[in-house]
Amino acid sequence: MSLNINPVEAFDLVVFGITGDLAHRKILPALCHRFSIGQIPKETRIIGVARGEKSKEQFHAEMAEALDKHLPKGRCDDQCVKDFLDCFHYVKLDVLGEDGWQELKDLLNERPNPVRAFYLSVAPSLFAEISVRLGKSGIATEGSRIVLEKPFGHDLQSAKDLNARLKSCFDECQIYRIDHYLGKETVQNLMALRFANALFEPLWNSQHIDHVQITVAETLGIAGRGGYYDHAGAMRDMVQNHMMQVMCLIAMEPPARFDADSVRDEKLKVIKALDPLDIRNTVRGQYRAGNGGGSYREEAENPDSMTESAVALKAAISNWRWSGVPFYLRTGKRLRAHVSEIMIKFKEPPHNIFEQSRPAEGNALILRLQPGEGITLMMTIKEPGSGGMRFLRVPLDMSFAETLGGRTGVLGNAYERLIMDVIRGDQTLFMRGDEAEAAWAWVDPVIAAWQESGERPQPYDALGSGPEAALALMHRDGREWREIETEPDA
Ligand code: NAP
Repeated sequence: MSLNINPVEAFDLVVFGITGDLAHRKILPALCHRFSIGQIPKETRIIGVARGEKSKEQFHAEMAEALDKHLPKGRCDDQCVKDFLDCFHYVKLDVLGEDGWQELKDLLNERPNPVRAFYLSVAPSLFAEISVRLGKSGIATEGSRIVLEKPFGHDLQSAKDLNARLKSCFDECQIYRIDHYLGKETVQNLMALRFANALFEPLWNSQHIDHVQITVAETLGIAGRGGYYDHAGAMRDMVQNHMMQVMCLIAMEPPARFDADSVRDEKLKVIKALDPLDIRNTVRGQYRAGNGGGSYREEAENPDSMTESAVALKAAISNWRWSGVPFYLRTGKRLRAHVSEIMIKFKEPPHNIFEQSRPAEGNALILRLQPGEGITLMMTIKEPGSGGMRFLRVPLDMSFAETLGGRTGVLGNAYERLIMDVIRGDQTLFMRGDEAEAAWAWVDPVIAAWQESGERPQPYDALGSGPEAALALMHRDGREWREIETEPDA
């Protein structure tokens, strides 16, 4: 199996916030890898923007240091990194001030034609200001693209305000709201699995599916990020964007075509078909101290914090396909393992012909987003040997790393794919403004109800399975969460 590399035309990418954490850890390594495999031509210009005064040499040294630290070893040799750094330019610019904009404009105008993209890797409070400046100054041309990091708004009203300001300068087809979960290979494979195979689609409904679980668990706490996180919480940080997007891809109807608006129309219909969340179907948690870390409240440096570091909820989609099929979502920090996965749990066989054995469990399709992206189908087989019909559950496992035989290095990470989509002008894997607003409209009332209740999120053990009440949420429906574990299956 060969993996195609389709080179793009040389482009100009302006990265606001080039000195920041996201630029260093994700954006630079992603670009460098695509450069090394020949997808990005050497005439491309990456124009870094930040407030500090830097000579060209100093800037290149900083970029080289960031790459040395964050580029997986063996990805690019020294010569390749050197050639890549030749693409870099720096403009000193405080986006809240007047200086530097003309210099940026002049630099871009040296080459009027290539694709021009602006990546806002800065605090969300600066998004509106930068986009208006870019639009009004003429730096953003008709074909320019603007890329925004999450969070896209803090609630429905702020998302609406931001959309309105963006749209005063950019057309929706120029706006790329990045959700890196959608760039993950498995998430895209979910669409391939459903719509490029005839096997699953006839089963993909309430007649055959018992329930769906989506889990995003992290082992790390919020130490060092408390300032941002304590104002957000798991609902805003994870559920409103990544998890709802994944839920939409699982639940959406087949789009007529695989293009941006057809896919996004179908995702939007799912969000609109969600029943309002009943607070009784939600659980909030905060991790305790232990296992070498402080408690949530200590790490947030807010002894009275009411912000949740974990959420579990049960959602219902009221349409013909999903009526009666619960979607259980859970996410949390300081949990047992760093794992993101989807489980589609099928119903049990309708009749047990093996009277002496326990009925076979329903099949489960597990899509692992991380670690080790891949797909597992849990099947029931006969336990080998004599002794009658005893059953064994076995995984039919497809790890992308194995299937692609060492070529996964070429696949790269989600940021690589998404940045290349921006350059190609493909918005399929980016959230549209109305989707972001609809997602806020669904989560806002729950966040408000939590605040009104005045109840503290339930404490849970560090590096455990999460709040007890999240387990109870499942148990009361006679179901269980899949174990949080790093191995594909056990
Ligand atoms: P960060 O480390 O604080 O970096 C912020 C960047 O913005 C710095 O390069 C800073 O440059 C620049 N900046 C700040 N004020 C500026 C101004 N007035 N004019 C020009 N540049 C200015 O933040 P980050 O973690 O990289 O996050 C960037 C964005 O990505 C945020 O929206 C965040 O929510 C989002 N995000 C981050 C992550 C992550 O893993 N880090 C994950 C998901 C989303 P100077 O100080 O050098 O001027």
